[in-house]
Amino acid sequence: MMSAKRIAPRLIQRLPGVRGSLEENLDLARFTWFKVGGPAEVLFRPTDADDLGKFLAAKPADVAVTVIGAASNLLVRDGGVAGVVIRVGRGFADIAVDGDEITAGAGAADINVARRARDAGLAGLEFMVGIPGTVGGALTMNAGAYGREMADVVVSAEAIGADGEQHRLTAAELGFSYRHSTAAGNWIFTAARLRGVPGDVADIERRMAEIQAERETTQPIKTPTGGSTFRNPHGVKAWQLIEQAGCCGLQRGGAVVSGKHSNFLVNVGGANASDLEELGEEIRRRVEAETGVVLEWEIHRIGTTAEGAPEEVPS
Ligand SMILES: Cc1cc2nc3c(=O)[nH]c(=O)nc-3n(C[C@H](O)[C@H](O)[C@H](O)COP(=O)(O)OP(=O)(O)OC[C@H]3O[C@@H](n4cnc5c(N)ncnc54)[C@H](O)[C@@H]3O)c2cc1C
Repeated sequence: MMSAKRIAPRLIQRLPGVRGSLEENLDLARFTWFKVGGPAEVLFRPTDADDLGKFLAAKPADVAVTVIGAASNLLVRDGGVAGVVIRVGRGFADIAVDGDEITAGAGAADINVARRARDAGLAGLEFMVGIPGTVGGALTMNAGAYGREMADVVVSAEAIGADGEQHRLTAAELGFSYRHSTAAGNWIFTAARLRGVPGDVADIERRMAEIQAERETTQPIKTPTGGSTFRNPHGVKAWQLIEQAGCCGLQRGGAVVSGKHSNFLVNVGGANASDLEELGEEIRRRVEAETGVVLEWEIHRIGTTAEGAPEEVPS
């Protein structure tokens, strides 16, 4: 007699119980700033660090984990992301002030941290007002603007390892460099301690307003985008090379090189992730041919293409 074929259990059936939510096949385009991307096989939204730690300690070792914050620096490919996508969001959004230090959850929006620092009369964190991500994303990317970056304000970070254990990393252990932290990829950040310097609330407010006004004129912040597409090569701005290579206005499907800032790609409607990625690769080819410089992606690309091409480790 022939034996019955065994059906593998769905991923969600193999995962430990959590206090937060576990959802199957959830479309990630609704979370990404680009408004593109396929589904997460399972999306986990932990309630707090304890929920996250217990999940990581108990999940089967072969289950891949990908972390997202506000997805403002992410291109999620059209085939989606296999394994568990962990969204560090609402459960990690607390912000507290103690003297000249601010403790912010990794899911807190950078803009809220800047506003809270202003209200407490703490200067030095104004740059965060214009970065549309979370504190966790900002730690990972050493996010910065207008001459300041996270490396200038971070005292320490709370993080959870693959075994579910919670750790505190000093600023030195975070290994910050231009738009990069050496700790990124090994840890899930749950909170950060940041330091400001006492300042005048009206001056801080004025600086934040200047930053926001400048961004509105220089960046396509009202159109779906992923921020700077490529890292600035040493000593030169990526946007200058892109313009030199004649890429202004270049288009693929609904993906266009922004007319406001040529290092930003925008989804003007109907773009999918492959349009955006192929447009980015076209820019890289043209810039290399024209200038000899090989641009490196700043945007992290995750997941598989609609054709199921293999996942790539984020750059
Ligand atoms: C309009 C616009 C303007 C921008 N301007 C700037 C700018 O001026 N300066 C700048 O630096 N960036 C800028 N960016 C890019 C982006 O906002 C930053 O890189 C931001 O810090 C990303 O945060 P996020 O929460 O969106 O991270 P995501 O995009 O969700 O993730 C980015 C990376 O961080 C990782 N990550 C996220 N959260 C965690 C966590 N809790 N623990 C571990 N890893 C985590 C992800 O795995 C991924 O590798 C801009 C983006 C847009 C859309």
